Amino acid sequence: MKKPDLHIVSFSGGKDSTAMLLHMMELGMQIDIVLYCDTWMEFPAMYRHVEKVKKIVEDAGIKFVTLKSPESFKYMMLEHTVKRKKPIPGNPKGYSWAGSRSRWCTSKLKTDMLSKYKNALMEQYNVIEYVGIAADEQYRLEREQNKQHEHPLVDWGWDEEKALSFCYDKGFDWEGLYEHFSRVSCWCCPLQSLEELRKLRRYYPELWQELIEMDRATWRQFKPEFSVDELEIRFALEDERTAQGLTINGHSKEFRQALKERLQQQQNFLR
Ligand code: SF4
Repeated sequence: MKKPDLHIVSFSGGKDSTAMLLHMMELGMQIDIVLYCDTWMEFPAMYRHVEKVKKIVEDAGIKFVTLKSPESFKYMMLEHTVKRKKPIPGNPKGYSWAGSRSRWCTSKLKTDMLSKYKNALMEQYNVIEYVGIAADEQYRLEREQNKQHEHPLVDWGWDEEKALSFCYDKGFDWEGLYEHFSRVSCWCCPLQSLEELRKLRRYYPELWQELIEMDRATWRQFKPEFSVDELEIRFALEDERTAQGLTINGHSKEFRQALKERLQQQQNFLR
């Protein structure tokens, strides 16, 4: 017997899935569940945005499901007892920062939880999942192999810019997050670019301070080339040099020399 269809909207809180969800609702498309997974480390403005959307969804009589691992991001990163195939000297606790080859947080706090939830539903239903890939995200579409996934933004020809302007027109502004970042994910992500980290420090100093503290509490360096303390030194140096009209180009020999000296001074000071 054919299983009944179940229409799930995959909602991250970002501009693309927000635009997709709101326009699907406007068009009266079938939505049975809006599924959101909380990694514990979203920007505070993102949590407020998600709450706003959740209310709209629930007021429309649609089920909004939030998945959240019972163990927090910080617990997993700093305290969890990890069984390692290759032991690390001192056998430190926690997974520490994600790296390009070990995105434990994506799997443990996101994909595993989502798969478990959806797999249980698939036993009873033919799950059709709506994913917010924009029409200009060809590389993501090419990676998408799942035949149960639908991409309404692509069907409508909506690119990322259109998705964002649609949300702005509807009064969703994420309190300015998209004025600083083109993509919004965990504020503490070590896979962010230096430019994104500069903005985190400039516009969200309290989160930057928390990032410094998290980095001091763990064993793997935040980025292969910099700890967060070193990034703080670099960004402070950049601010000083910008005020003096000096280059802050990371490829310039002069800047690199100035940074090397500043980092050295700090090390001497700490000794
Ligand atoms: S955005 Fe970064 S920190 Fe967050 S789950 Fe993904 S890899 Fe981990």
